[in-house]
Amino acid sequence: MEIEAVGGYEGVGRNMTLVRIGNSQLAIDCGIKLDSYLLYYGKDERDFEEIPTEDLLRVGAIPDPHTRSPIDAFLISHGHLDHIGALSRFLDKHKAPVFATAYSSGLISQKLTKEQLGRIFEIDYKHEIPITPSLSAEFVQVTHSIPQSSIIDIHSKEGDLVYAADFKFDDDSKIAKTDYKRLKEIGRQGVKALVVESLDVGKEGKSYSEKVARAKIRDVMSFAHENGKLIMATTFSTHLERIQTLITEADKLGRKIIIAGSSYMPNCSMGVNMGLLDLPEASIVAGKKLDRVFSKIEKGGRENYFLLVTGHQGEPGSILSRIADNQFHFHLTTEDFIIFSSSTIPTDVNIANKSQMIDKLKNHGVRILDDVHVSGHANKEEHRKLIKMLNPEHIIPCHGDARMLASYLELAEEEGYRVSDTVHLLRNGSIVEL
Ligand SMILES: [Zn+2]
Repeated sequence: MEIEAVGGYEGVGRNMTLVRIGNSQLAIDCGIKLDSYLLYYGKDERDFEEIPTEDLLRVGAIPDPHTRSPIDAFLISHGHLDHIGALSRFLDKHKAPVFATAYSSGLISQKLTKEQLGRIFEIDYKHEIPITPSLSAEFVQVTHSIPQSSIIDIHSKEGDLVYAADFKFDDDSKIAKTDYKRLKEIGRQGVKALVVESLDVGKEGKSYSEKVARAKIRDVMSFAHENGKLIMATTFSTHLERIQTLITEADKLGRKIIIAGSSYMPNCSMGVNMGLLDLPEASIVAGKKLDRVFSKIEKGGRENYFLLVTGHQGEPGSILSRIADNQFHFHLTTEDFIIFSSSTIPTDVNIANKSQMIDKLKNHGVRILDDVHVSGHANKEEHRKLIKMLNPEHIIPCHGDARMLASYLELAEEEGYRVSDTVHLLRNGSIVEL
């Protein structure tokens, strides 16, 4: 068994791992590095899909596998862009099937050509997927900040390889349940290698449950309702559980709900169609209709509205950035509140974009409630729990920068693994043979 660290092993983003067993080669995840992309193309008029692949490779925005042999299948753990965003760049060269859950498939499909779409196969959690005569894969449900995330188990004669990126353990999620029973069974049957995210392993303790986010949101929403007029909020457009909480609370306060921004449109509609999201009387708008909506809010009494908008990372072109830049006939007042139900993704580009946007918003006098959020990534004790359940022979930390990978090594050593012997530190482009 050979594992090639393609992307995501020396920075957060462009995750991709290749696994070679016998004559077969499988790719797990295939994402973009959003901050590298934004740094070079944030103000570019062209859409991501119009930028040549070699340019994206040059700026480190997509993974760069050196393999010349064909990829037999792509296995997708979940629908975040840093795990799916580069797929369109590989599906013409490697005419392989892509296996993903329904929600991930829906997100992937938004970016593919008609021909590429024919290669997407929706999986469910109950069935094993035969890939080649000697290899099969199984998707096990796990909680994360997006619906239908999976831990992937590749079964082979050489042993099982389990891939866990990204995940957290949250027993109070309303839309996902981690299948602990199946994970323990897999552990008992024997795991040769675990490839595992390391983003928050350096944080002591356990990540807070989504129920903490629900309590935080309830708290700040009722405060804003009593002490202000318009309430706006922003969060990740694929975090349907969070979107649900924000909308449910706004609905309880009797506010009219408007969701604005192009990325919310397909994701929320898909969520409603799949029974993952319930939008009571909410209307979703984007494009030219926005000006009409803003004038409705100004005329109809801003205290009667709740507005969910894009822009939690200060992305140029998002609704919140454009409001901050006075690009609409719409003005915020000192009685309006903005809830950031997100934390800043810690990259230089995001930090700079968001702080600039917040400065501009403050110039409007608007009041800001930041970090009304819990993370979707496992902290140290959840990682320890995963190791204990799976009891892998080898561990390869992925999805992190040097500091995060090193934090994983520390935990692995505590659990009895030895660096370079049973826990392996890989960098983009390096290979380990087990
Ligand atoms: Zn993720």
